[in-house]
Amino acid sequence: MKRLMYPFLALAFGAAIIAGAAIAGAGGAGAEGAPALPVADTVYTNGVVYTADAAHTMAQAVAVKDSRIVYVGDDAGAAAYVGAGTTSVDLAGKLMLPGFIDSHMHASSAISDLYEVGLYGLPTMKAYQKAIRTFASANPDLTVIQGGGWANPVAPGIGPTKGQLDAAVKGRPAVLWSEDGHSVWCNTLALKQAGITARTKDPEGGVIERVPGTKIPSGTLREAAADLVTGILPDYTVEQWKNGIRHFQQDVAAPLGLTTATDAALTPGDATLGAYQQLADADELTVRMRGFLYLGPESGPIADQVAAAVAERAKHTTPLFQTNTVKLFVDGVVEGHTALLNYPYKDKPGFLGVPVWPQYAALQEASVEATKAGFQLHYHCIGDAATSQALNAVAAAEAAIGSDAGRPGITHLQLVTPSDFVRFAQLKVTAVPQPYWFVKDNYYYGIQLPYLGKWRADREYPMKSFFDNGVLVASASDYSVTYPPDPLDAIQTGVMRWIQSSYEWAKKGDILWPAERVTLQQMIDSFTIAGARANFLEDETGSLEIGKSADMVVLDTNILTCPAARIGNAQVLQTIFRGATIYDRAVERERVNKLKEGIHSLQIAIQSWCVDNSDRFPPASIVTADGLGVYVDVWPSNPWTGLPMKPGEDRGDYTYTRLRSGKSYQLAGHISATQDFVVP
Ligand SMILES: [Zn+2]
Repeated sequence: MKRLMYPFLALAFGAAIIAGAAIAGAGGAGAEGAPALPVADTVYTNGVVYTADAAHTMAQAVAVKDSRIVYVGDDAGAAAYVGAGTTSVDLAGKLMLPGFIDSHMHASSAISDLYEVGLYGLPTMKAYQKAIRTFASANPDLTVIQGGGWANPVAPGIGPTKGQLDAAVKGRPAVLWSEDGHSVWCNTLALKQAGITARTKDPEGGVIERVPGTKIPSGTLREAAADLVTGILPDYTVEQWKNGIRHFQQDVAAPLGLTTATDAALTPGDATLGAYQQLADADELTVRMRGFLYLGPESGPIADQVAAAVAERAKHTTPLFQTNTVKLFVDGVVEGHTALLNYPYKDKPGFLGVPVWPQYAALQEASVEATKAGFQLHYHCIGDAATSQALNAVAAAEAAIGSDAGRPGITHLQLVTPSDFVRFAQLKVTAVPQPYWFVKDNYYYGIQLPYLGKWRADREYPMKSFFDNGVLVASASDYSVTYPPDPLDAIQTGVMRWIQSSYEWAKKGDILWPAERVTLQQMIDSFTIAGARANFLEDETGSLEIGKSADMVVLDTNILTCPAARIGNAQVLQTIFRGATIYDRAVERERVNKLKEGIHSLQIAIQSWCVDNSDRFPPASIVTADGLGVYVDVWPSNPWTGLPMKPGEDRGDYTYTRLRSGKSYQLAGHISATQDFVVP
């Protein structure tokens, strides 16, 4: 790792800290004839500040006034900005970076934490079923059980089946998205209500998985086929979406240092868009958001779709929420055999995948019309053929307007034809990769090796090639596909292309495409200044420079000097957005401690309830006063023997979820029918 980090270390230590006056361009306060310097609201000193400006300047201090940066430089220069009423913050040698920017994610999908069951990271079908069963019994008011996060490697081939889902929830329709968002898993009732039978044909661009040897739908619907069932689901209300977005910014974004993020597939007219605008108008947004408006082949004439997008864009002109980008899917994903390849899948001879736009001309027309209407283009491309098609469409858009297409972006970029790297640069297309995925994990071993073959699997997710060809690279998580969307994890993975984990597949030195490792500085810039450029925000944020919004993070670890393998363990101490501290880890810790005390008394309450009601069972879910849920998984009978529970027997475990940072918090406690309950 030393070799990798060396270039940046040399820079960090070798570059002189730029003097304050040189940046400020003003004389000292009170100097004869010089204009008086503004009195800052807050001055941060004694830090290690990486500014991410064009010269990669290091500094010690930052001064902020009226939410803007008024000074970056050394401590001595900062003193001139301190006046009556200035808050002085001693960074105590900690690292300060610009606030992180995630250039492709689905922020509002955080709503699923509030109203849906999450299966992310659960290892087996049995664990899925248990989680779904628990959620369903804890939420008797939901008319449909929705959720997501199941992984294709857990249910390879035809995917999870309706029977497996019926075993968890039968009386209500249940529809659960895969963690990559490209397939849904339905129970029998959901398929029935959607009218999907053996006679239903696969829709264009989609696959209805069938019971092998028959035409009977087996329960998994891929790509466009998912619309058959998701189209009948009730949408959330604007109020529910607002709660989801609030949850995202408070519990997901702020603790991870994200100050600018995206919502990458919104449809004009969606309640989500109204929710964002209401929050923006009420000055409630603590993340600068950019929404991408979806254009698709199944959504009617292109002209009508673009007109709807234009009308939607006009509603969102506030600085913190705008929708100036259109999102087009060119293909699907490898695990669904829907990624568009130049050469056939290894396990499906002669098969090249499923284009989302059956006619390339229609994809081109959509790109041209959207560009003419002033939209920025943003494409989903997994396969090498898909990326080539997107680049061709960008070229067509450029030709149509006779100039640059306006910073188009292509995201995911799992396989890229080598000759296309230079086309990214020529067409000024931003590469938007997800460095979180640059590892040989269960997807590599379980999906990519058998589906693509070793040659292609070992050449997936390029990154350095983009930099080497002068392409703008803006990193992203694709949250909630990646969960949690912690930029520090991705910065580590981009540098190492390997991650320490307990899994058997994470063998030491088993690096995914070592030649594509990039430098630490490239990774940091891809989450800061490059993300700003990709979203036309470089005058507003992305680097610590005078005049820009004071969007900053303070870390507990200096990731510029720590071993690369520890970068992902670094924690955000403070997140500052427009000059205001929106996250402070010390304050947060106090809150968590209070919550723990609350849980303790809750445990006592549950315990005595059990004792007082020895022939009954505690309520299936309890929501604490501050809205945090405690799910009590209750077994009316012994799950192993089927016999009624006896006093003293465990009645189940319970899990306490939804702490900040999106991580769930497991309590190793048991509710038993007698006093032998132990508080952890
Ligand atoms: Zn996405």
